[in-house]
Amino acid sequence: MITETVKTVETNTKVIDVINEIAKKKYNAIKSFLEGEEFNTTVIFGVYLWGNYVAKNLKEYSERIYIVDIHEFLERFIAFDEKIKFLHLKDFKLKFLKKEINPDLLIDLTGLGGLEPEFLSKFSPNVAIIEDPKGVFDEDIYKVDNTNKRAMSLKCDKIGILKTYRKSRVSKTSGTMTLTIDTIVDASREINALDGVLYAIPNLRYYEGILFDEKDVNKFFDEITKPAVTISCLDETIVDKADKIINKNIELIKAFVEKF
Ligand code: SAH
Repeated sequence: MITETVKTVETNTKVIDVINEIAKKKYNAIKSFLEGEEFNTTVIFGVYLWGNYVAKNLKEYSERIYIVDIHEFLERFIAFDEKIKFLHLKDFKLKFLKKEINPDLLIDLTGLGGLEPEFLSKFSPNVAIIEDPKGVFDEDIYKVDNTNKRAMSLKCDKIGILKTYRKSRVSKTSGTMTLTIDTIVDASREINALDGVLYAIPNLRYYEGILFDEKDVNKFFDEITKPAVTISCLDETIVDKADKIINKNIELIKAFVEKF
């Protein structure tokens, strides 16, 4: 408390709540594209940030699920499950060459700079889904993106492109982290405008530095479980309004799969 009049409060909504809501929307888009079809072997490329969420939820539709990544330490993101196995990209490649793994469902979440079209041309799954990393038009990002090339290189009759946007809001990419940051920053601006608010601070960090540079998975989880917004205000009841504003911003996020 600064004075009897001015207080500091935090939203009940945590950063991880926003991340999970986005993962849920993306997963629901995938689920409706799959139309309840069942699979023997699912391969998901890309653990971060929601690969584990997809794997967990696809369990009832797939006998086996492999999550493949170039970063070994991301295995820590995957909760133990008999059906779900983490594989480093080079181990996966070996098993694939030996025909030990042959996915009938392939999901590529790797985004910008991820899987190469030539690599994908080796697969012939029944269904494939590629997450399109593009958000609003950005010349440089559009040049780097190769979602269409990836889709064209697959031998597959049912390919879906997963798209995620914010309605009437701008985000440069569809990345879960990009959308999380933008949602919290935009919500903070709205919270700031409420009567009785002195200021609102998006309680954000450079999470990807903690994860990919420091490789500190515990610290990463610790940081994302912090409240999304800190508010200096006259009246604590502002918290309820602030949480509602965050929710309203989450509702602007729409994910859908487009048939390629
Ligand atoms: N689309 C995701 C973000 C992907 S970040 C989202 O919206 O949340 C890229 C992820 O893919 C990281 O986990 C990275 O380690 C992994 N990755 C990058 N290149 C890869 C490759 N060639 N094979 C497998 N995983 C890869």
